[in-house]
Amino acid sequence: NTFAEIDLGDALNQNIKRCKYVKPTPVQRYAIPISLAGRDLMACAQTGSGKTAAFCFPIISGILTEQYAQRPRVARTAYPLALILSPTRELSCQIHDEAKKFSYQTGVKVVVAYGGAPITQQLRELERGVDILVATPGRLVDLLERARVSLQMIRYLALDEADRMLDMGFEPQIRKIVEQMDMPPPGMRQTLLFSATFPKEIQRLASDFLASYIFLAV
Ligand code: AMP
Repeated sequence: NTFAEIDLGDALNQNIKRCKYVKPTPVQRYAIPISLAGRDLMACAQTGSGKTAAFCFPIISGILTEQYAQRPRVARTAYPLALILSPTRELSCQIHDEAKKFSYQTGVKVVVAYGGAPITQQLRELERGVDILVATPGRLVDLLERARVSLQMIRYLALDEADRMLDMGFEPQIRKIVEQMDMPPPGMRQTLLFSATFPKEIQRLASDFLASYIFLAV
């Protein structure tokens, strides 16, 4: 019933303490162990439920524990290990701020890219290396077309507020993005989908993008 009881590793536990999180919220309590076990997950989560930590903790923990093939750290094309897609600039920035706190002094690098802002600064950040990329779908498609981001090394994909992304018309972009991760070797990606509602379109995304998954409604 406390974060100390979940095996997230020392570095992450330190940062959780620093954020003054003691007790996991309901969605965290169930989503984190499922994700740490490597399962795909579709979770029902509203704003304020603590969903950001629910998908950030397993991703950061995984990046810190797993051995990954060498990637160019500083290069014209960025090779993130994790991608967090979110519908808006505001939400992306919020996730970026939180993810940075959670990965403080771990060496895990978080970068954000969103539309409606000049791309130059974002390109400069990406060139310095990225482990976790937080992005809005439109801007990410732009970066992929410029070959400034490759999704070849993605091991974790989180879709935040998936229903809102579909309401905003991002389904074609999301499909284009996920297609680029489905190059071989398959089965290497863990996918976490968070949504407040579950219309048919979301269920279809889940059956297209997730491997046999657990549906969590808390
Ligand atoms: P979210 O739903 O991810 O936007 O989180 C809502 C707010 O709750 C944010 O300000 C988080 O920093 C905070 N929060 C998330 N999880 C916890 C927790 N276990 N204990 C205390 N605060 C939390």
